Amino acid sequence: MAKGEVIIDYQICMGCGICINACPFSCLDLTRYGTDAYKRLFPELEPDHGCTGCGICSKACPLECMTVIKKDKDGKKDAVSS
Ligand code: SF4
Ligand code: SF4
Repeated sequence: MAKGEVIIDYQICMGCGICINACPFSCLDLTRYGTDAYKRLFPELEPDHGCTGCGICSKACPLECMTVIKKDKDGKKDAVSS
């Protein structure tokens, strides 16, 4: 079970991909289609991601639109950082 989870505010995200390159575990990918006329792609966690909740992606995001949730050993959310 992944130890972390990432929530992205897509109202702010510009799809730059910096977070994807920042993740040391390759958990994120540009696979979410935007709803605007430009059909841009936005990042999301991959289906079998191994997110550790390290927060590196969040720190790299220039728009501070990522929230990282850490989970305890039972999978419950026990800490949130953004
Ligand atoms: S770094 Fe931030 S703005 Fe850029 S794609 Fe990731 S979440 Fe979106
Ligand atoms: S919190 Fe860490 S492991 Fe999870 S997606 Fe972000 S950089 Fe990757």
